[in-house]
Formats: sequence, structure tokens, C-alpha cells
Amino acid sequence: MPNFKTLDDIGDVTGKKVLVRVDLNVPMAGGAVADDTRIRAAMPTIRELSDKGAIVLLLAHFGRPKGAKNPTQSLSLVIDGVADVLGHSVMFIPDCIGEGAKAGVAVLAPGDVAVLENTRFHAGEEKNDPAFADALAEVGDLYVDDAFSAAHRAHGSTEGIAHRLPAYAGRAMEAELNALDAALGNPVHPVAAVVGGAKVSSKIDVLRNLVGRVDHLIIGGGMANTFLAARGVDVGKSLCEHDLVDTANAIFDAADAAGCTIHLPYDVVVAKEFAPNPPTRTVNVHEVAADEMILDVGPAAVEALADVLKNCRTLVWNGPLGAFETPPFDTATVALAKTAAALTREGSLISVAGGGDTVAALNHAGVAGDFTFVSTAGGAFLEWMEGKPLPGVDALKA
Ligand code: ADP
Ligand code: MG
Repeated sequence: MPNFKTLDDIGDVTGKKVLVRVDLNVPMAGGAVADDTRIRAAMPTIRELSDKGAIVLLLAHFGRPKGAKNPTQSLSLVIDGVADVLGHSVMFIPDCIGEGAKAGVAVLAPGDVAVLENTRFHAGEEKNDPAFADALAEVGDLYVDDAFSAAHRAHGSTEGIAHRLPAYAGRAMEAELNALDAALGNPVHPVAAVVGGAKVSSKIDVLRNLVGRVDHLIIGGGMANTFLAARGVDVGKSLCEHDLVDTANAIFDAADAAGCTIHLPYDVVVAKEFAPNPPTRTVNVHEVAADEMILDVGPAAVEALADVLKNCRTLVWNGPLGAFETPPFDTATVALAKTAAALTREGSLISVAGGGDTVAALNHAGVAGDFTFVSTAGGAFLEWMEGKPLPGVDALKA
């Protein structure tokens, strides 16, 4: 188990002012919350604290106001969205520090929930200025961090404040940290990783970290082309970063040294144009013509990869295997996602996935709900895959 305190350790919170860092950076449309996924994610923590009689003070950023007040990025705009999900009214407090914050908090009663104004209206937030963190800490008695998606940033409301008040992980943060620990921290072996997506260049650090941690590294998507090119395959017109062939070779060497097996596709689906439902061919990787592009992993490779997953106990997945937004190049991603989902349902696989397009691909395959855990954290998930320390998480460590 990772080493951090949770709401189980927080003790009696009756009448205590609990500052809860949440992710309220929600998409808006026509002045209303367009997608309340992030608000819903924070509900277990908010409800639990409110039910126990805490004064719940929600801290969050909204957009990129760059340290200045901007009415279009006021968190007052999301109050109705939070109240809708919570099922009762939510107060708005027009500042997160100073007298403006304290006066608003002073009128609250145990069980009340309030949203404090955008932390990024103060330049000290993103600078992690000690004076700003001191001022934040003065507003509450306890701190709960429930925003894993912001934990890769050492900001006042994610890191600074955690050193100034007793600090706990909220329920969503706890679930995320436990899932990530089960996937890469202390996983049950054998462990497989699927890394796909467009480019090697965006995931070099992910690949470097994974070869030292997993038993099987499955490389798909556009980035597989660079690895195929490094192995001497002519990938035709495919997306390929020829300048990264040396990097790919270094990753092959590191995998060899660590005992990690790298799996590349040996059959692929190719087309002459990148458009919906063009004429395609399924060929061995050595048969790609000069005017063709690799747009998906082939069926024989998918079958072999399914066998790899059947022999693994843990899977971590980031990046689609093909250009899944354009039919029929979603085929391999959907098929392997369904295999992973079935193995998870049967109880033989712990499956953790993350990444913007990966979540979209799993939803498209209809299996996101069958994975053990799907992270919507974006940047924080990728930095965790890269093995980087997450300041917001480290600050919670006991
Ligand atoms: P995530 O957001 O989950 O981290 P990425 O952004 O790295 O994933 O990669 C997703 C993109 O990779 C998708 O837009 C997909 O179309 C593209 N992609 C996957 N395979 C290929 C391919 N063979 N050729 C071109 N693009 C590809
Ligand atoms: Mg993406």
C-alpha cells in the first residue's frame, strides 16, 4: 500500500474547516457546466465530510487566468453545476485567501459546502509562493487533496498547503493512488504495458521508464513504425520519426538488459489514403508498399497480443493501437480492449488505463467500465507513467 493518510485517519471533523482541493476545471458551454465528470468524481469526499459535520471548503483552479482576476474564469460560474450534482445549495466565497475568504467562511455552519474563488487569481498559486500557501492554510483547519489530476504541479493549493495543515488524500485520490500502485508501484507479475498513440517523441520517457518495470512492452500506434524502422522495416508513407531510430534502439537495448520483451506488430493494416473506409490491405510488415501507410495493427498480431495478456496478471495501457477515430482503423484497439476487459471480468487481470485518447478509445469500445481503473487525469497520469515524482502526492506522504 502506498504511504499516505486518508479520510479514515482524519478523526472528528465536526465543525472543523476542511479545505478540499478538487478538480473543478470543467468544460463549459453557454455559461453552464457541459460535462460534470470531474464534479461527480469529488462527490464521495464532499459528501462524507459534510455528513460528518465538517465545513467543506472547495479549493480549485479554473482555466489559466495567470495570477489575475478574470470574471470569465470565476468559479462562481460552476456553483450551479456543483449544487446540481450535490443535490443541495452550495455557497460561493469570492476569494480563497485573506479577509474575503475568512469573512465568507465565518458564516458557514457544520455540514455546509462552499466553493472558494479560483486559486489561480493569485500569482502565488502557480509559483507555490510560501506566503500564499500560508494564507491558504489560515482559512482552514485541515487539508484534503482529492485532485490527482493537479498533483503533477507543485502549486500552493496542491503542495504548499499540504506542508502547513494536517493533510489527507480524499476518496478519489485514494482510489487513483491505489490503482496506480497496483499497476506499476507494487504490481502482481507478469505485467504488460500497452503503449500506443501517434509519436515516440511524446512518450520517450514513458517507454524508458516502462522497460525497467514491466515484463512485456506492447508497442502499437504510429510510434510502432519508428521501432519497426529501427529494425530495418521499410514503413512506406507511414507516420515515422526517422530521427528517433537511435532512441528506439536504445530502448530495445534497455529492454534486453532489464528482461523486458518488446512486442511489435508483425502484420499491419495499410492504406494509400488516410480517410474513413478507404481500400485497405492487411500485410506482413515487410510487405508495406512505398505509397502505403500503416494505420492499424493486424489481426494476427492482435491475437498474439491477446495471448500475452492472458498470461499476465497486470496491464497498464496508454495510447491506442491504431488511428481509432477513423474506421476501420479502430479494429485492433477495440479487439485488444475487449480481451483486456474480459480477462478483468474473469478476475485474471488487473487493468489500469489512462490518457485522453485512450479513455475515448475504451469508451468507443464500450469497455471502460470493465477495466479495474480508468484514469482521466491526463498530464498527471502520463508523468506517473514516466516515473516522475508527483509533488502533490509526495506532500501527502506520511
Ligand atoms: P493518449 O491521448 O491516450 O495519450 P496519444 O495522444 O498519444 O494517446 O495518441 C492518440 C493518437 O494516435 C490518435 O489520434 C490516433 O489516431 C493516433 N494514431 C494511432 N495509431 C496511428 C497510426 N498508425 N498512424 C497515425 N496516427 C495514429
Ligand atoms: Mg492524446
